[in-house]
Amino acid sequence: MKDVDVVIIGAGSAGLAAAKTVRQAGLTFKLVEAMDRIGGRAWTSSEHFGVPFDIGCAWLHAGDRNPYFPEAQAAGWTMYHHDMELDHLYLRHQKADDIALAEMRRADVALRVLLESHKGEDDRLSSLLSGSHAMRAATTFIGPMDFGRDDDEISIADFNAAADLEPNYFTKEGFGALVARFGGDVEVELSTPVRKIRWDGPGVACETDRGTIRASVVIVTASPAVLAFEEIKFFPDIPDSYVEAFFDLPMGMLTKIPVAIKGGRFDLKPFDDLLIERHARHDLYFLCFPFDLDLMVGFVGGAFAWEMSAAGEAAGVDFVTDRICDMFGNDARKHVGRAMMTDWGAERFVRGAYAAARPGKVGARATLMRPVADKIFFAGEALAGPLIQTCGGARLSGEAVARDVIKELAA
Ligand SMILES: Cc1cc2nc3c(=O)[nH]c(=O)nc-3n(C[C@H](O)[C@H](O)[C@H](O)COP(=O)(O)OP(=O)(O)OC[C@H]3O[C@@H](n4cnc5c(N)ncnc54)[C@H](O)[C@@H]3O)c2cc1C
Repeated sequence: MKDVDVVIIGAGSAGLAAAKTVRQAGLTFKLVEAMDRIGGRAWTSSEHFGVPFDIGCAWLHAGDRNPYFPEAQAAGWTMYHHDMELDHLYLRHQKADDIALAEMRRADVALRVLLESHKGEDDRLSSLLSGSHAMRAATTFIGPMDFGRDDDEISIADFNAAADLEPNYFTKEGFGALVARFGGDVEVELSTPVRKIRWDGPGVACETDRGTIRASVVIVTASPAVLAFEEIKFFPDIPDSYVEAFFDLPMGMLTKIPVAIKGGRFDLKPFDDLLIERHARHDLYFLCFPFDLDLMVGFVGGAFAWEMSAAGEAAGVDFVTDRICDMFGNDARKHVGRAMMTDWGAERFVRGAYAAARPGKVGARATLMRPVADKIFFAGEALAGPLIQTCGGARLSGEAVARDVIKELAA
C-alpha cells in the first residue's frame, strides 16, 4: 500500500526542483516542509527595511549555468552584474592605500594559482599560505566570507572541486522571492517535519506529526547538519558510512548584519566591496548600498560568525556600528538606523549556512550521492557537484536526483 510514488523532504531550492521534475514525469509525490514557508535558505523579507532583503542567498552565482538567472531575466527583474573585486581594504583601523590594495589583488591571483597547482594528499588551505597581510586578506575573501569556513578548516580538494562562480548577479527583487516564484505552483505540506523514515518494508514510510506517508522512494534534501542531529531518524539504521559523511560535511557559517544608513554615504558607491582585516581574525566585509538602497550589509564568516551567533543580535549590530565609526569617525553613528542580524545556526531545520568537507574528507559528498537501498536518495546544495553551496546548484541537484528516481521507478 503506498500513498504516492515519491516523498520529498524539504521545500528549499532542491526539494521544489525535485517535485517539479517528478511531477513532469507523471509520478505522484508528497512534498513536506518543516517550516511554515517554502524556500529554505532562500528567503527574501521586506520586514526589516521595507524593501526586499535576502536573509539567505542573494548572489545568483554562475549566471551562465544558473537556471534561476534566465527566469529572473524573463520576469523582467532588475539584475546587476557584480564583479566581486575588492574596492576598499582596511587593515585594522587604517585604510590601505592603492599599493596595498593592488598587492592584495595580486595575492588573490597567487592564492588561486597555489590552490590549482596543489598536488598530492589533501590538506588544509592554511598549509599554502604565507603570513603576508595581502595573502591574509585574499584568504578571508575566499575563505570565511565565501566558503563559510576558516582557512585551517577548508579542504583544498573540496575547495578545488567547486567551480569558479563568475559571473555573479544580484536581483533587486530578491533571490528568495525568485525561488518562491519558482515553487509557487507546487503543492507543499508546510509545518510538517518528517521525524522518521522506515525503510524495512517494500518501500519507505515517512512518519510526520500529521501521519505517515508511504511511498516507493524518498528524496531527502535536509542539510547534512540536520541529519547529523538526527532530526530525521532512520529505521533500520542507515549504514555507518552515511552517518560518517554527515559528520564530515559540517556546516560553514555566514552571518549578515545589514544596517540602514541615513543621510550619508561616506564616499562609498553602490555595490562597493569593502573588507576590514581585523584583530584576532574578526574580519568584516561590507556590501555597500546595493541598488542604491540606504543599506550597508555587513558579513562575518567562519568561526567568527558562529561566535557572533552565540553573542546575539545586539552584539552583532554594535560590532558593525563600531567598525563604521572606526572607518568614518564617531559622527557616522548618527547615520546608523535600523539593523538586524541573520542567524542560520539557530534555524533548527538548517543549522548553518552551507556544508564544507573537513580536510581529507572530500569523499563524503560522493558517499551521500549514492542512494541507500535504491530508496533513500539525498539531494541539495551539499551534493551539487561544482556548484556546491549555491542555490542554483541545489536546484540542479534536486533535478538530477529526481531524474535518477524516475529511472529507478521505471526499471
Ligand atoms: C546567509 C547565507 C547566504 C547565502 N548566500 C548565497 C548566495 O549568495 N548565493 C547562493 O547561490 N547561495 C547562497 N547561500 C546558500 C544557499 O542558500 C543554499 O545553498 C540553498 O538555498 C540550499 O538549498 P537546499 O534546497 O539544498 O537546502 P535548504 O534551503 O536548506 O532546504 C531544505 C529544506 O528542508 C527542510 N527540512 C529540514 N529538515 C526537515 C524535516 N525533518 N522535515 C521536513 N522538512 C525538513 C528545511 O526546513 C528546508 O526548508 C547562502 C546561504 C546562507 C545561509
